[in-house]
Amino acid sequence: MHLVRDRAAEFGVRGVDPSALSFDLPTAITRKDGIVDGIKAGIFKALDRNKNITFLTGHAEFTSPVDIRVDNHTIRAEKTILAVGSRTAPVKIPGLEKAGYITNNEALKLETLPQSMIIVGGGYIGVEFAQMYARFGTSVTLLGRSPRIMPKEEHEFSEILADLLLAEGIKVHTSTVAIQAGRENDLAFIIARHESTEIRFEAEVILYAAGRTARVEGLGLEQVGVEIHGSFLKADNRLRTTAPNIWSLGDANGGPMFTHRATYDGPIAALNVVKELEREVDYRVVPRAIFTEPALASVGLGEEEARRQEHDIKVGIAKFSGSGRAKAIGDTEGLVKIIVDVETQEILGGHILGPHADMLIHQIVSAMYEHGTPEPIAKSIHVHPTLSEVVKKAAKAAR
Ligand SMILES: Cc1cc2nc3c(=O)[nH]c(=O)nc-3n(C[C@H](O)[C@H](O)[C@H](O)COP(=O)(O)OP(=O)(O)OC[C@H]3O[C@@H](n4cnc5c(N)ncnc54)[C@H](O)[C@@H]3O)c2cc1C
Repeated sequence: MHLVRDRAAEFGVRGVDPSALSFDLPTAITRKDGIVDGIKAGIFKALDRNKNITFLTGHAEFTSPVDIRVDNHTIRAEKTILAVGSRTAPVKIPGLEKAGYITNNEALKLETLPQSMIIVGGGYIGVEFAQMYARFGTSVTLLGRSPRIMPKEEHEFSEILADLLLAEGIKVHTSTVAIQAGRENDLAFIIARHESTEIRFEAEVILYAAGRTARVEGLGLEQVGVEIHGSFLKADNRLRTTAPNIWSLGDANGGPMFTHRATYDGPIAALNVVKELEREVDYRVVPRAIFTEPALASVGLGEEEARRQEHDIKVGIAKFSGSGRAKAIGDTEGLVKIIVDVETQEILGGHILGPHADMLIHQIVSAMYEHGTPEPIAKSIHVHPTLSEVVKKAAKAAR
């Protein structure tokens, strides 16, 4: 819709009246639900086919270290793997509970498009939802407590992304801490502190996306000796918790919270539990992606962190504006950045902001997995004209 509404004329498509376009949120949500339900059905079918699996649905709670109650059933388990995931961290803004708010869960189920939305949280969830709802037509205000959005990503990526969001009409406020919330005349409000001033923001809906915590309430962990470290379960690098017969994986353990991390953890936990192996997890190379437009993807160390770890580094940069393919598809914003240790020539990190960053990152992921240098990326023949040539150019510049 963004492409048709804002850029049809640029691609020579005539007859599109941007003001006549409208967006049907329930239809989009129904389509999304259909995709999710289809994927779930496939997984349930596979579970069902495996005769060694008994699949129960319901809320699970330990009643002893080896007994788990699921609604009316009690099952006995010598060993357990917890894969309970995470949820939005508890709200710390006075008045917000009473004023009412939604989280990412409700934001994907709304039946009507809100006219206005305040999003609290400038991390990847806040930023993805900000762009999505702004493009649907909601007036979005994004509040982040850090000096920049996406504070864990490279500095210049935050800046480019913030400029792009601002250009799309999103009101981005960084270094802005929500201190009070309430509701007046059908509008929710947030009072936030920016430096020494207080600012009042108003909107129909507040989306709270400021942090995650392990989903452990009602699990009965106090019965079994599983300790919590900060907001997450304490597990060692073999995924064993502080209880000798309980392992845990994925978001519940904190660290990189992505589906691909949880699916990486799964077989390791299973082998350690069932075959009594001592496999260790290795999170040295875990890619991450933020599905904004342009997308952002990264792996390994950033420039600041590499220097903090006392690496002498060389940084290779290539911009999408120099790519023929990026020009052809009209997506020239962004860059590829590859960070290399000067002494060993090993790639320490890769960062991409630009079209299909989420896919392009895998060239760097594979190289890093093998403790590789930029040489194979820089020297191998890449198809022309493709966006992967920009990765090659950055690899050349990093040697
Ligand atoms: C808005 C948003 C967008 C995201 N986008 C991406 C993305 O694009 N790519 C990506 O890789 N990751 C993304 N993630 C992260 C990804 O969803 C998680 O990393 C992943 O789901 C973690 O898997 P998990 O198995 O650890 O937990 P989950 O997928 O959360 O699964 C945990 C399951 O355990 C169940 N459960 C919990 N407690 C109990 C109990 N007591 N009894 C019974 N069942 C229980 C829960 O209901 C849930 O079904 C996103 C997350 C959010 C919030």
